Amino acid sequence: MTTARSSRIETIDTHQFGQPRSGAVYLVRGERTALVESGTASSAPRLLERLEDEDLAFIFVTHVHLDHAGGAGVIVAEHPEATVVVHPRGARHLIDPSRLIAGARAASPHLFPLYGEPIPIPEARIRTATDGDQFDLGDGVVLEAIDSPGHAPHHLCFFEPSERVLFTGDAVGNHGTPVDTPLTVPPRFDLERGTATLRKLQTYEPLRLAFTHYGVASGAPALLAAYEHRLVEWFDRIGQLLAEMPPDEVVRTILAEPRYADLSPTDRILVEMCVRGAILSLSADAG
Ligand SMILES: [Zn+2]
Repeated sequence: MTTARSSRIETIDTHQFGQPRSGAVYLVRGERTALVESGTASSAPRLLERLEDEDLAFIFVTHVHLDHAGGAGVIVAEHPEATVVVHPRGARHLIDPSRLIAGARAASPHLFPLYGEPIPIPEARIRTATDGDQFDLGDGVVLEAIDSPGHAPHHLCFFEPSERVLFTGDAVGNHGTPVDTPLTVPPRFDLERGTATLRKLQTYEPLRLAFTHYGVASGAPALLAAYEHRLVEWFDRIGQLLAEMPPDEVVRTILAEPRYADLSPTDRILVEMCVRGAILSLSADAG
């Protein structure tokens, strides 16, 4: 994996689920400092220690899933100077996370305890961002919101033009992590919108991608194109299996592939979630 360093962008490992290089958040520095992603509620206390001396103008979350925005409530409670920036369709879930918690519990009862429970964020601390909104951090550093549905309908990527770095959230999948399956998690993955998003992201001509899972990688155009290809292949494969067998057997068949044999129990659950999300999406299209 190619990683790149930059003085303006600093990667912090949140040790998501207790594992290194599994979840990242980013500090972006202009005259003011912003945090991109917040990690899980479980990893927030550790992250807070790291952020102790930081003055945060914004906390940008790419979407409200618990590994991206779950820690935002805890962090903003300790950083009263910060405003949380989120997609308009995600805001209500930050104000009242109860449906999000119920959804995550249902999607993955085994993983849920590892995420921890997010706490509500007061509405006054939240600002919504739509496509093209720019947040000026000073010193030539800007973060631009990009509406990027597919992984979830309320997904934003953020682009920093001076370094041409794109913060991808889950729109471009994982990079360099043990789980290499496309991130087609339940309940709202949409293949058509996801691939359209990848083509849209190309038009920003990013040089590097800052993956939440995990790290900054160069060669952005090739990575975007490769992920589009993998998504289409993944849906083709699951669609073919689904024509031959019931959904539970599709999950078992995929997990029986040799490439997944050495995964940790947690990572096997993540693969299963991606398979089930793809099945759900294909079934929704069929119905
Ligand atoms: Zn994620």
